[in-house]
Parts: sequence; structure tokens; C-alpha cells
Amino acid sequence: MMGPPGAGKGTQAVRLSERFGTPHISTGELFRNNLEKGTALGTEARRYIDAGELVPDEITVGMVRDRLGHPEVEQGFLLDGFPRNTLQANHLSALLAELDQRLDAVVLFEVDDDELIARLLSRGRSDDTEDVIRNRQQIYRRETAPLIDYYRDILVIVDAVGSVDEINDRALGQITDLVMDTPGHPARNGSRLPPQT
Ligand code: AMP
Repeated sequence: MMGPPGAGKGTQAVRLSERFGTPHISTGELFRNNLEKGTALGTEARRYIDAGELVPDEITVGMVRDRLGHPEVEQGFLLDGFPRNTLQANHLSALLAELDQRLDAVVLFEVDDDELIARLLSRGRSDDTEDVIRNRQQIYRRETAPLIDYYRDILVIVDAVGSVDEINDRALGQITDLVMDTPGHPARNGSRLPPQT
């Protein structure tokens, strides 16, 4: 899942991972958990997060590597907010090759700039002051947006303006076939979807 800060990718990622029964791996959330627990990793990450900068790649990639090594992700996973630059994307490719996994789709949540600022200012997170927001947006444009081209072959663009339910329906409509139906994938026999009650 990718998208500019404030596009609502976190909210959508939680819903989609519940729908597909796959673990949700959010690097932002992993960092925030580490901050709350006061771990060394959290302490190291804090100054970058507070400034709206990217946490250095070696720290971020190491954290993702640990998480992807867990047996629970063997049947699939949803990555939220990672990779955020081409170096991380290259590391991810190597890591997935080691694990005999691959990405089915890269989902970009798209929203225009004015709407984004309004959403972020109403969210009230400690890294949501106007200066920090602007910095995160610049970094998104400079570092993360090039991934749109990097992943063009598996890119799915979702219009992320509307209610949470509308956006979720749109995203599901656009990605369900991609993550469920391609023949030859170990987890593609439909068993990944939990039964509807
Ligand atoms: P998020 O919850 O995705 O908005 O992330 C919050 C903050 O965590 C970001 O502004 C970064 O400081 C840091 N962060 C999250 N994901 C990454 C990543 N892939 N690479 C570097 N820093 C990250």
C-alpha cells in the first residue's frame, strides 16, 4: 500500500488485511510501537519521525526483514508504508526472492494536495504539525513517488476521495482478482479468503 501522507492508506490497509486474512505490516506502526515501549530502535527512530524524515534504510529494512521472517506471513502479507524509496524496494525484492515470495500488486491511494493537508491537520498525531506535514509531503514526492514507475507493471491506482467504505469497496474491486486468482501461486486456491458469515 502506498500513498501520500494523509491518503488514508493505514485505515484501508487494516480493512484489506482483515478481508484477506493476511497480516498487516505497517512500518510506521512498528516504529510507533517501539517508541511506546521505549526500545533502542524506537529511541533511534524518534528524531526522524518527529521531523517527518525517513528513518534510515538499514534500520527500516532490518525491521521488515525480521517481520517477514515470521512463519505467519508465509501465506501472504500486506505491506503498508514500505518500501518508501527505491533502495528499500531493491532490498525488498532481494528479501522476497530469499523467501520465495512476490508482490501481487502495489496499491496507490490517490488524493489531491488540499484535501490531504485538511485530513492530516484533523488527525492530531504528534507528527502532524504543519511543518512536519510539509516535510513528509516533500519527501514523499522526492523519494517515494518514483516507486510509482518502479512498480508500474503491478500498480493499481485507487481514487481515495470518498468515505472509508466507498474507498474500501473500490480497492477491493480493483485488487481482489490480482491477489486471489492468478494460477500457479501457492496461496491462489481461494483458501486465503476467510469464509463469509
Ligand atoms: P506512517 O505511519 O506510514 O505515516 O509513518 C510514520 C513515520 O514513520 C514516517 O514519517 C517515517 O518517519 C517513518 N517511516 C515509516 N515507514 C518508513 C519507511 N518505509 N522508511 C523510513 N521511514 C519510515
